[in-house]
Amino acid sequence: EQKHTEEYDVIVVGGGPAGATVSAAVAMRGHRVLLVEQHTFPRYQIGESLLPSTVHGVCRILGVEDEMARAGFKLKRGGTFRWGRNRDPWQFSFALSPRLADPTSFAYQVERSRFDAILLDNARRVGVDVREGCRVTTVLADEERVRGVSWTGPDGGTREARARYVVDASGNGSRIHTHVGGKRTYSDFFRNIAVFGYFAGGKRLPAPNDGNIFCAAFDEGWIWYIPLRDDLTSVGAVVSRENAAAIQRDPAAAWRRLIDSCTEVRAFLDGVPQATEAPYDQVRVRRDWSYWKPRLWRPGMVLTGDAACFVDPVLSSGVHLATYGALLAARSINSILAGTAGTAGTLDEDRCFDEFEARYRHEYGLFYEFLVSFYDMHQDERSYFWKARKVTNVGATELEAFVELVGGLASGDTSLTGPGQADTRLAATSSALDQAVGRLPDSDGLRNPLFESATIRQVFQEGAVLQERGVFGGPLEDEEPLSPGGLVATEDGLAWADPVSR
Ligand code: FAD
Repeated sequence: EQKHTEEYDVIVVGGGPAGATVSAAVAMRGHRVLLVEQHTFPRYQIGESLLPSTVHGVCRILGVEDEMARAGFKLKRGGTFRWGRNRDPWQFSFALSPRLADPTSFAYQVERSRFDAILLDNARRVGVDVREGCRVTTVLADEERVRGVSWTGPDGGTREARARYVVDASGNGSRIHTHVGGKRTYSDFFRNIAVFGYFAGGKRLPAPNDGNIFCAAFDEGWIWYIPLRDDLTSVGAVVSRENAAAIQRDPAAAWRRLIDSCTEVRAFLDGVPQATEAPYDQVRVRRDWSYWKPRLWRPGMVLTGDAACFVDPVLSSGVHLATYGALLAARSINSILAGTAGTAGTLDEDRCFDEFEARYRHEYGLFYEFLVSFYDMHQDERSYFWKARKVTNVGATELEAFVELVGGLASGDTSLTGPGQADTRLAATSSALDQAVGRLPDSDGLRNPLFESATIRQVFQEGAVLQERGVFGGPLEDEEPLSPGGLVATEDGLAWADPVSR
């Protein structure tokens, strides 16, 4: 069979948020990018609740923020939780940073088929050669580096494309991620199963929080309730993997039963029919295990999005991690390719991709660590789900994060959450936790004691830097490198600069 080989600077596998972001951000710097997507868009995907840094950071950098605003997505000002022992819901708002008052203190709840299509169309618009209905089958590599891919088109024919970099953005079901760093490492802690579907309406929280995600913990796990449109609500249950067999036998029945056993969500859906429009007429099941990889790049190949790592969805971090990781990858690629083209690049491959990997891992780690303590807030002994997740053997970092959280909650005094206080406060956690969670105000923003945890503040600070860059074209203050000797983003957010030579 005659193979036709094409040449590009970068080949991106997968056209979800990660792939559309990295490809557009590289094409915007004038490089030749091929994106291969197996489906023809629009296609269904789960992951509908976004964070502000995606909307105001990444989308702004890519030039689609206005289009997002015009798309009519439901405005999401924050999250409302029925979580912990207290039966009363509490909530937080994104209006966290006084420097970022109103313009960026919201995100959207999105129908992913529409959101993903906006990003992919944008990639095409800025010059990415997008091939839908084409499936990457093989990674081409020699001892030194990855050199390209082969893929099959809609006609069934096989083609080859070669490039300086291959980006695996093919998501959770990636078949090629093992070319970087071998197998996935699965978390012992987050190994759940999700069953989800849609209702043709449903009650809304009182304004202005009517667009909030609502997450309700119940005996068997937790349920998300996401208002997508007035006449469409996404409802999913995340439960222990021990339920997998029963759920697989009859997903729709299991989904209904779980919703019925969660008082708050059942009340919201009283008398509301299930959605009948495609693609929302189905009840779907997804394994919801958190994982990461020992390495995220090797010469010639990079992983981003769910192909690289995934963490439990209760904080809506998936699309944020996918698009932020994609932006970091694009910065590295742009910095290196600029050098090849004889322009400003003075940064070598190792340095650029080590920066990508360090930042991506750091961001993932913040969410992971926080989530471990977040899950641990629910101390209901009767519940099998939570018992199974009881942290019996955690390392210092998780405990520190947990204690920071509890210390902040219990005292409301941030000076107590500094390092070195952990051991003395540890003894008091259980009863202090009950009181602390019970005292959570249902007000929002900075006054919520949740944000007095240093770990949580850091999570939101990373997002804030992205938001600021989006709004003002760059951070308000010179960004500090993540570690000494590290790199910082250029003004346009699309490449790295060495702060020493700046
Ligand atoms: P994807 O969106 O999966 O895109 C990958 C693309 O690659 C697909 O279009 C696929 O067709 C294509 N592809 C795959 N293989 C090939 C191939 N060989 N050749 C060509 N193309 C290929 N995130 C949030 O932000 N908010 C949420 O509320 C949220 N809720 C979630 C709930 C659950 C139960 C789960 C499991 C996840 C949730 N997520 C959420 C996470 C979110 O779904 C993902 O993090 C996000 O979709 C990752 O984007 P991606 O671009 O990496 O991958």
